[in-house]
Amino acid sequence: MATTKRDYYEVLGVARGAKPDELKRAYRKLAMKYHPDRNQGDPSAEEKFKEVGEAYAVLSDADKRQRYDTFGHAGQGMPDFGGFSFESAFDLFDMFFGGGARHRRGGPPHGNDLRMNIDIDFKEAVYGAKRSIEVPRADTCPECQGSGAKPGTQPTTCPDCGGHGQVRRTVQSIFGQMASVGSCPRCHGEGRLIAEPCSRCRGHGLVDVRKSIEVTIPAGVDEDVSVRVSGEGEAGPRGGPRGDLYLGFRVKPHPDLLRHGTDLVYELPVSVAQAVLGDTIAVPTVDGEHQIELPAGTQNGKVIKIAGFGVPHVRSGRRGDQLCVVHIVIPTRLSADQRKLYEQLGELTGHPAEVRRGFFDHVRGAFKS
Ligand SMILES: [Zn+2]
Ligand SMILES: [Zn+2]
Repeated sequence: MATTKRDYYEVLGVARGAKPDELKRAYRKLAMKYHPDRNQGDPSAEEKFKEVGEAYAVLSDADKRQRYDTFGHAGQGMPDFGGFSFESAFDLFDMFFGGGARHRRGGPPHGNDLRMNIDIDFKEAVYGAKRSIEVPRADTCPECQGSGAKPGTQPTTCPDCGGHGQVRRTVQSIFGQMASVGSCPRCHGEGRLIAEPCSRCRGHGLVDVRKSIEVTIPAGVDEDVSVRVSGEGEAGPRGGPRGDLYLGFRVKPHPDLLRHGTDLVYELPVSVAQAVLGDTIAVPTVDGEHQIELPAGTQNGKVIKIAGFGVPHVRSGRRGDQLCVVHIVIPTRLSADQRKLYEQLGELTGHPAEVRRGFFDHVRGAFKS
């Protein structure tokens, strides 16, 4: 962010040595021009409004201006500059123009977002599922419909702030007396007073409930994926919009398959004879058993791919593969007959003279991990 920021003097269109009066004039002109109320639906104007506000906030403060002149936008030595938000831009505007011009954004506050982890089966992660889940959350009080007032009564408008939730104070600044807008102490910024609170929610307008909701788990989710269920978070106070619910997942492992991204890894045990002579083998997949051809002369560690039998990518839906890694099982207990056959085999084949190509790379790899 900091590197793409425009120079504050450039933003306000003033020279580096501009006097406070010039800054003031420049800010007044630009803030009026870009105020979002005058530029409905133009996001670039909002950005500019904020940019102009931030530039003025810094340059109109002698201390911050001096540090800006010395360090520029670089974070070092500029700890107060972060966090200049749209709200700050509006507050500054109100302060500058003496209030009354406040652009009310969004009305009552949003309800809180919630985060929940749910346990799902391996197959549900692969194929997706519909689930009914219980969400403990704050909901609008059914007794007072969220007003917080005892049923049959109404909240009254706060007389101190006239229902705005904010009061203007006069403060001393480097430009002389200025109006500052702060939260109304009588109604705590709510703009209304409740004479008789609702007994169910004690005036909060919200009650704790356990709500059962239906959610769709998309195919391909994993433990690092979070799914947003829009509008299923907590109810907003005083009828404000609901927050969102974010679902995380704990996936039950599969007994045979190990997930690696969108691929599934299966350790395929084969006997010495199968590895030497080749065979057709049924292997488990998420879609049931699948026949694969093991070629004659298969080496230990060879990977046989079953294309398209992996997990769908949670966004693209493209399925990965199942990778069967051959594990040649060397018998440790032999029957008398087997022992005899291995002995005969040993006499015929003798000691292998060939070292497998890439053997040393393999060993090095093993030591690294
Ligand atoms: Zn209530
Ligand atoms: Zn008030």
